[in-house]
Amino acid sequence: MESLKEIGRVESGFKEMADPFVMRKKESGIVLAKEYTEGLYRLSESRYIQVVYGFHLSKGYSLKGPVYSGEIKGVFASRSPHRPSPLGVTTVELLNIEGNRLVVKGLDAVDGSPVYDIKPHASVFDEAGTGDVDRQWAYTEPRSEMIKLVRGGDLKACLLLAGTLHGHFCPGLSSGIYASVEGMKRMSVHFSDGMEQMLAIIEINSCFADGIQAVTGCTFGNNSLIYRDIGKTAVTFAFRGSKKGIRITVKPDFYDVLSERYPEYSGLFQKVVRDRSGTEEDMTAFKIKGREASFGLLELPFDACFDCAEIEPEIPAYAPIVDSLTCSQCGERFMGSKAVERDSRILCRVCGGLEIPCLTGKGIDQD
Ligand SMILES: [Zn+2]
Ligand SMILES: [Zn+2]
Repeated sequence: MESLKEIGRVESGFKEMADPFVMRKKESGIVLAKEYTEGLYRLSESRYIQVVYGFHLSKGYSLKGPVYSGEIKGVFASRSPHRPSPLGVTTVELLNIEGNRLVVKGLDAVDGSPVYDIKPHASVFDEAGTGDVDRQWAYTEPRSEMIKLVRGGDLKACLLLAGTLHGHFCPGLSSGIYASVEGMKRMSVHFSDGMEQMLAIIEINSCFADGIQAVTGCTFGNNSLIYRDIGKTAVTFAFRGSKKGIRITVKPDFYDVLSERYPEYSGLFQKVVRDRSGTEEDMTAFKIKGREASFGLLELPFDACFDCAEIEPEIPAYAPIVDSLTCSQCGERFMGSKAVERDSRILCRVCGGLEIPCLTGKGIDQD
């Protein structure tokens, strides 16, 4: 067999390895050795191409390790640069070819990486079946799509995806998105698998809270979202086993800034939400203006909207895992830790006649 030939080199603004999700957002050049130029004939007909290159800065390898989502996988089940044969394969967008120089977008190779091969990406060869690849990926990494956007700092795309949870776009949701993406960056974390390792401690149950849940994956249901009934638009990001956390709050004048920039939205908010007196047209206009304001907010500098402080967070214990019991009155099953004993009968809290705290728009409601 012929040995691998270096056919060219990568030109990139990245002199050393950076987050591949960040690198992939930039353009790079690939300069081929002149003798191979003819091999580029008709490559420009392909919008996407595959680049096979060397991880020339990578030293050593391990057969198992964490992948981008934090999961542990074997090296051949990962895209790690530390591999027995340090080769990378990335599908990139081909923007231009001039002579022996290609301009591409999406290449996560550092400056000077040797290039060994270039091929057109062809869905007939490269995709097992359209849609299947993404679905299979999501099956093992349910949050892969959001992780990609968070790591790439793609705030607007995060907001779009979060809309599937929240149902509409509003400044509350987008400020939750902004606080989460920036908070995770400042904490140097890029994933949460909803297993209570990372916690988001929120102080308000408003639209803001859905932005936090969508981006961080810390949710009401997986117990990684802790609700403190204070009513401040604030969130603290914390990790079990770490004393370092950060608390992000919206600035006291945040809503003044917002209403100055988006006066129509503020007026409609007053009418539709506060006074509940809007017509159907007002409601439609409110949604449109809310969308404008929420996407627009993401263009403001972070420090203009939020305050951020390092704190030592109070971390609650893991959610208790308890056996279920059956209520001897209503016959329904309930978490054993919620049992009420009356005349040596085990009852649920409802049959036991307890007041049930309720999380409503008001917060935790005891009456
Ligand atoms: Zn909302
Ligand atoms: Zn009962």
